[in-house]
Amino acid sequence: MLKNKIALITGSTSGIGLAAAHVLAEQGIDLILHGLMSNEEGEALASSFAEKYHINTLFNNADLRDPQAISDFIDAAIIKMGSIDILINNAGIQHTESAVNFPLNKWNDIIAINLSAAFHAIQKSLPCMQKKKWGRIINIASVHGLVGSVNKSAYCAAKHGIVGLTKVIALECSEQGITANAICPGWVDTPLINQQISDIAEKESVEFDQAKYNLVTAKQPLPEMMNPRQIGEFILFLCSDSARSITGSSLPMDGAWTAQ
Ligand code: NAD
Repeated sequence: MLKNKIALITGSTSGIGLAAAHVLAEQGIDLILHGLMSNEEGEALASSFAEKYHINTLFNNADLRDPQAISDFIDAAIIKMGSIDILINNAGIQHTESAVNFPLNKWNDIIAINLSAAFHAIQKSLPCMQKKKWGRIINIASVHGLVGSVNKSAYCAAKHGIVGLTKVIALECSEQGITANAICPGWVDTPLINQQISDIAEKESVEFDQAKYNLVTAKQPLPEMMNPRQIGEFILFLCSDSARSITGSSLPMDGAWTAQ
């Protein structure tokens, strides 16, 4: 059913986005790959997906802090690939600091990349989905879209924001065959969290692996990080016909973090 659908995954050069790209490609879904990487590296990545999975691919390295760059990227992607059926707003960054000391440029970047970019991408992609009366919008939020943590003011504000945005898009599209959902992961083993692990290793004078364990178990009852592919499999389920009634939901995948 999903073969030859066209999926755009922001931030698919690393971590969760890259793992999700492999899961979708295995189903024959054509891919618009995106992330901060040179054109040369990105085109090599896109070619490797095309060869391995026999799908159509495209790469773009638009900086998501720039709304015009997002608009140009999506216009070009629709012209080259024909449409966007599945939009996965995944790209994100992190910076930890108390609110009183939080650098303004980091606040602005986190809100732009983790929240506003999703709005711009949804606005540009929806007409394709409305024309086909079918679409899937999946926003990678976080457990921090549901609860707060110290030193994460911008991240929590952006992730709570994307949970709200998801609800509104689901309501506006409820009769159009388009679903919108947010996935709210706990800890996932990707480069995004390396800085936080290094900070703990330094502060507690422990090895990186011990610091990783300490980070996970501080708040998440399940004492292990998720593999990014697990999120990819969940995304695939949300794209399936079985999930057509799941819309407007913020779905924790968090090792019981928010059960407390
Ligand atoms: P990652 O660092 O491995 O990947 C981030 C991706 O975003 C990369 O492809 C990068 O190129 C892209 N990106 C960053 N800044 C960009 C910019 N200015 N313009 C364009 N692209 C940019 O991170 P990840 O852990 O895979 O994170 C993916 C999503 O999952 C993020 O939204 C993150 O907040 C969310 N998340 C991660 C975790 C976790 O524990 N890793 C937990 C919950 C939610």
